[in-house]
Amino acid sequence: MWKKVKNYFTGGSRSKIVVTADEPRIIPRSEHQISRANISENALKVLYRLKDNGYQAHLVGGGVRDLLLGREPKDFDIATDATPEEVRRVFRNCRLIGRRFRLAHVHFGRDIIEVATFRGLGDGEEQATRENGNGMLVRDNVYGAIEEDAARRDFTVNALYYNIADFSVIDYADGVRDLEAGRLRLLGDPEVRFREDPVRMLRAVRFAAKLGFVIDETCERHIFELGHLLREVPAARLFDEVLKLFMGGAAVETFEKVRHYDLFRHLFPETEEALAHEEHDFPITFVLRAMGNTDKRLSEDKPVTPFFLYAALLWEPTRLRWEELIADGEHPIPAIQQAGSDVLANQVKHITIPKRFSIPMREMWNLQPRFEQRNGKRPQQLLTHPRFRAAYDFLLLRAESGEADSELAEWWTRFQGNQGGDQEQMTQGRRDDGGGRSRRPRRRRRKPKTQDG
Ligand code: ATP
Ligand code: MG
Repeated sequence: MWKKVKNYFTGGSRSKIVVTADEPRIIPRSEHQISRANISENALKVLYRLKDNGYQAHLVGGGVRDLLLGREPKDFDIATDATPEEVRRVFRNCRLIGRRFRLAHVHFGRDIIEVATFRGLGDGEEQATRENGNGMLVRDNVYGAIEEDAARRDFTVNALYYNIADFSVIDYADGVRDLEAGRLRLLGDPEVRFREDPVRMLRAVRFAAKLGFVIDETCERHIFELGHLLREVPAARLFDEVLKLFMGGAAVETFEKVRHYDLFRHLFPETEEALAHEEHDFPITFVLRAMGNTDKRLSEDKPVTPFFLYAALLWEPTRLRWEELIADGEHPIPAIQQAGSDVLANQVKHITIPKRFSIPMREMWNLQPRFEQRNGKRPQQLLTHPRFRAAYDFLLLRAESGEADSELAEWWTRFQGNQGGDQEQMTQGRRDDGGGRSRRPRRRRRKPKTQDG
């Protein structure tokens, strides 16, 4: 078990805690179910090569956790006592990345195996590299022993090591017990660990949803208290974390949990506000459908694009803004452009959305009013737009949730299926219902409130 030994530079988010471990529990090969057959060939190559060169080499983190659960790991991370420079000497196909804490990436074609040197507890990240008077960077106390490395990890179930030397699992923190109990427990003092890195709250929710685990009670309480710290996490870091939240195959569960723990409003404040207004009337929201759609696509091995996901997460406030602008007399096409730009400008204060995603996201939103234009050559032209397919999928979701006309969505489905003359017939002599000033995005029909809803 972990014992708190010393607590230094307390105060604010810089609190650090030093822990030491008793003897770890070693689970021999005969008593666990991790088989080399389930470890990727490349990861095994790296593990063996390190071992053959006299280093310690372990599989660690999610890889070990998932293998013990009988799940297929997303990736295989390796921890070693070899320094990054030593790792590079062992592998020709190796690149070192990172400045403060260097990691070795061993490349096998497109597959990359990440090798991290055991991390020490002595220093915070900020201090990992210091200048020594001559302008040279010195590394001090950055690397450590395996038990220190274990103590820096987030959850007990993520601090298990699979040792290639004897195929045993090393457990410093009762991780196996928690794994069997289906429980997420932070290492060390939860408050300190969440303050140190508030992203761990999102990780807790993500693992709980993905693995069907419960978050330990103390951790849970601190999530409710400390959620606001997410506002201090750099916006650029949150972009990736949010993608991991919703692209892990359990987006519906995750979405519900992130809202349950009241973390969603710190990530998407405008969406939260829009949802809070509607919730009672619309139990099945557009966002939830979009999340369900994402999970379904992933389970069918279909691609899911980050721009579609963000477009869905930000649609409710965009739509409301769009309606407002139209109500003020704006034409729907410039109104959607304005609405998208307003919502995005507010959102990037919280989460950076790189241009390569925000541009197609807005293009897709901007196409929504153009679906209304079904007369003449316009529908044909829309079909050739590079964003047509995504925008059409988006329209379907809108129609399913009752916000867009289902007749419109069906028309577009038929229109794509028809060829040549039939398409022409569909677009002949229609009243152009799109650009019209009077046309508004449909407000969803209000369902009468039920007793339990
Ligand atoms: P996934 O299945 O999503 O890959 P994972 O547990 O492997 O889950 P990673 O983000 O790949 O998650 O991180 C690998 C390991 O690094 C974790 O298992 C954990 O031990 C450690 N780790 C990652 N992020 C943190 C963090 N914010 N604080 C402490 N330890 C972390
Ligand atoms: Mg991982």
